[in-house]
Amino acid sequence: MKVKIKRWHTVGIWQWNMEDSTDVCGICHNPFDACCSYCKMPGDQCPLLWGKCTHCFHLHCISKWLETKDSEGTCPMDRQPFEAAT
Ligand SMILES: [Zn+2]
Ligand SMILES: [Zn+2]
Ligand SMILES: [Zn+2]
Repeated sequence: MKVKIKRWHTVGIWQWNMEDSTDVCGICHNPFDACCSYCKMPGDQCPLLWGKCTHCFHLHCISKWLETKDSEGTCPMDRQPFEAAT
C-alpha cells in the first residue's frame, strides 16, 4: 500500500515538472538534459542551440526543422525568424 502511494506521488511530480518546465525542447519535447530523438546518448554529440527569441532547442531538432519548407526559417515556438544567439 505504502509503495503504491509513493509511486503514484512520484509520477505526479514528474508530470507536473514536465508541464511546468521550459527545460524541454519545443520540437521533440525531450528534456535538455536528454538528447534529441535523433540521438541515443546525451552529451557533446547533441548540443543545444539558443535563438535570439530566447527559445532553446537541440541543435539537431532546430536544424531539421529549419530544413523543412514549412519552417520558412522561423522559430517553431513563436514563428519569428530564427536567429541563433551567440
Ligand atoms: Zn529536441
Ligand atoms: Zn541530437
Ligand atoms: Zn522562439
